[in-house]
Amino acid sequence: MAEYNPQAIEAKWQKRWEDARVFETEAHPTKKKYYVLEMLPYPSGTLHMGHMRNYTIGDVVARVKRMRGFNVIHPMGWDAFGLPAENAAIKNQTHPRVWTNNNIAEFQRTLRRFGFSYDWRREISTCEPEYYRWNQWFFLRMLEKGLAYRKKSRVNWCPKCCTVLANEQVVNGGYCWRHEDTLVEVREIEQWFLKTTAYSDQLLDDLKQLEGGWPDRVIAMQRNWIGKSEGAKVKFAVADVPGLEPIEIFTTRIDTIYGASAMILAPNHPHVAKLLDSSPHRAQSEAMLAKMKKTSVKAEDIATAEKEGFFTGRHAINPFNGEKLQIWVGNFVLMEYGTGAIMAVPAHDGRDFEFCRKYGLAVRVVIQPDGIEPLDGATMEAPFAEHGSAKLVNSGPYNGLTPDEAIAKMGAAAEAKGFGKRETVFRLRDWGISRQRYWGTPIPAIYCAKDGLVPVPDTDLPVLLPPNPKLTGEGESPLASTPEFVNTTCPKCGGPARRETDTMDTFIDSSWYFYRYCDPHNDKAPFDSGKIAYWFPIDQYIGGITHAILHLLYSRFWCKVMRDLGLVKHDEPISRLFTQGMVLKGGTAMSKSKGNVVGAFEMAEKFGADTGRLYTLFAAPPEKDLEWSEESIEGSWRFLNRVFRLVDKHAAGIHGVAKGNYDAATLTEKEKALLRKAHQTLKRVTSDFETRWHFNSAIALVMELTNEIYAAEPLENSVRAEVRREMLELLTLMLAPMTPHLAEELWEMLEHSGGLWKAGWPEFNEEFAREDEVEIPVQVNGKVRGRLRIAAGSKEDAVVTLAQQDVAIASHINGKRLVKKIYVPDKLLNLVVG
Ligand SMILES: [Zn+2]
Ligand SMILES: [Zn+2]
Repeated sequence: MAEYNPQAIEAKWQKRWEDARVFETEAHPTKKKYYVLEMLPYPSGTLHMGHMRNYTIGDVVARVKRMRGFNVIHPMGWDAFGLPAENAAIKNQTHPRVWTNNNIAEFQRTLRRFGFSYDWRREISTCEPEYYRWNQWFFLRMLEKGLAYRKKSRVNWCPKCCTVLANEQVVNGGYCWRHEDTLVEVREIEQWFLKTTAYSDQLLDDLKQLEGGWPDRVIAMQRNWIGKSEGAKVKFAVADVPGLEPIEIFTTRIDTIYGASAMILAPNHPHVAKLLDSSPHRAQSEAMLAKMKKTSVKAEDIATAEKEGFFTGRHAINPFNGEKLQIWVGNFVLMEYGTGAIMAVPAHDGRDFEFCRKYGLAVRVVIQPDGIEPLDGATMEAPFAEHGSAKLVNSGPYNGLTPDEAIAKMGAAAEAKGFGKRETVFRLRDWGISRQRYWGTPIPAIYCAKDGLVPVPDTDLPVLLPPNPKLTGEGESPLASTPEFVNTTCPKCGGPARRETDTMDTFIDSSWYFYRYCDPHNDKAPFDSGKIAYWFPIDQYIGGITHAILHLLYSRFWCKVMRDLGLVKHDEPISRLFTQGMVLKGGTAMSKSKGNVVGAFEMAEKFGADTGRLYTLFAAPPEKDLEWSEESIEGSWRFLNRVFRLVDKHAAGIHGVAKGNYDAATLTEKEKALLRKAHQTLKRVTSDFETRWHFNSAIALVMELTNEIYAAEPLENSVRAEVRREMLELLTLMLAPMTPHLAEELWEMLEHSGGLWKAGWPEFNEEFAREDEVEIPVQVNGKVRGRLRIAAGSKEDAVVTLAQQDVAIASHINGKRLVKKIYVPDKLLNLVVG
């Protein structure tokens, strides 16, 4: 009896796959393609089992699709630029490239150890000039199209580091990560932006193309991030500063304007200085203002930040009713959003409510929800912010209208009277890509005293990172203190010039990397459009929900830009997206900082990669979180041993026998029962793989089949060799996508010499798989109202009669006319009643 030795088996088959180039793939004009991809990892530290889930799911899909005859592309690469490498380099006195490449080697070793079916020839690393030169090339194209531009923008600035901080480096509610006693300031500096807002409408509208393929939750997050709102701009005249322009606000709730109790301006609104100029509140206001500017609240913190403000001593006039309103300055109003000024309507908006209650400003109800006691502004504990089923009150001629009616009428009235204008706005901002860091793509721009901004010519790409920067983490961008990088000649006039010293946001690297996989070594273009036309869009993308917004939004933007440059033909890069659950240990996500990780390589060395893969798939449905358990992993290990022993035991006895070579009429009851179980399992596993990704239930079914075969032992004298072979082969093939090394070994033990990778996915025998009884859902007017157990193969009339007799279903059809019946045999009954 042989023993299951995963370490030996796994090494053996990984070598065979590599020698036979099994996973190498090329575009092919007549083959059906399938592009499956896991989000590219940031190589940092070592891979733990929390990471492996994503790759395991992707590998199962790739292998199933290969077995089903698709030409599968399944690549892997490295998101290799970024701040952690630079920080680690500063800390360890090494070079970011050395740190990064060491991590890449470590990641590669682990991914290879798990036998993932990548086409390693396509591997890319975004920190290599062969890759990042195309970032620069795309940047230059965007510059030509007006999609890349410079403007002053606010950044986090540590006065001790004398440098710009990334958002992640601002910690503990506004302090520098390296100087925990130093408040981070906000400064305005010139930065590069990409004009994502040029595509706001398309980014929103094209989400429709993704419905059904992307999780609803992710589509909703994207929609919310783009944040289209229909509203109106309204001008409020300033009462007590003659000659000052009216203050313009943007609101999506003009229907609540009679409830305004103050105007609130952003601290850097251009009116603020003029309002304060001769104001009686000037002295104290200016001190408040200075403080507020220093500690300004970031957009993502607005909802939770403590609302602060002060009264300017000035007033504005509500154009609808002539009422005088105090003008305040508030830290939660941002210049970047809308017009940098708002009307505060505390009774009907959460932030305004918080602010006005704090400062004792009046709360006036102007929207009264139907069917409840009238709201009272003086005592209400929360605002009523919905449109809901409600009517306007205290709103002059608009009383009695619904909010939606009022929005239309009041918007029109504001336009007619010349103090307002209806308008659509987006929450989406342009993408600030400048980073004052070394370890990123240099921005290919040159500044000449004579010619101003001069783009680096294409022929001078790539602009290489200087090999030996001074990295201190302090002062301006490291490239700026590298004279051999900064000083250059102007491509236009040949005079002395300076290079741009900022590098690009690393989200640029990951916005288009999946295109490069299709043509990774092209040195004439980012890729060949013909190859892209074959492989794209991505059929299945797999990754964490943490990337649901930015990475995917930038990728969608990049795709649209490339389409408009004529490089690709599709609107959306990714047809289907899957977001897997996390791997927890002791109730929290595995992470190095929590100290609860299970090293992936060590895991494979102990139990074998196949056990690790199987367990990861078995312990929870792929979209749910998974709680790591050492005991369950031993269960997976024991199961694979059982399968190995089963095949090992029977292999000799079925020597030379062909599977399925029997007359079905001669099968015994025992043989029939086993074959039924095997084919029913295959049928359900096939559908679990194809449609629902219920890998855990697929594995449970295969385990059940294994148990039944064991329970039927001894088989030698009661089950003919052809049937035994059929069961063992099906078992092996069903395990192949999940535990590929073991499956290959079993396949060889079953006397197949060519490698299981050449075998297709087995077809189930419908005759054998047929259940005696099936359960079907019954819908009434498209809604499931009950389930029926029926004899397999029942006729429509019989099933309809059963449905009418079912109490739960009958309550939805009794007394109504049956208009139509749709019956899919053994699957579903839909009754349309009217
Ligand atoms: Zn600092
Ligand atoms: Zn010049």
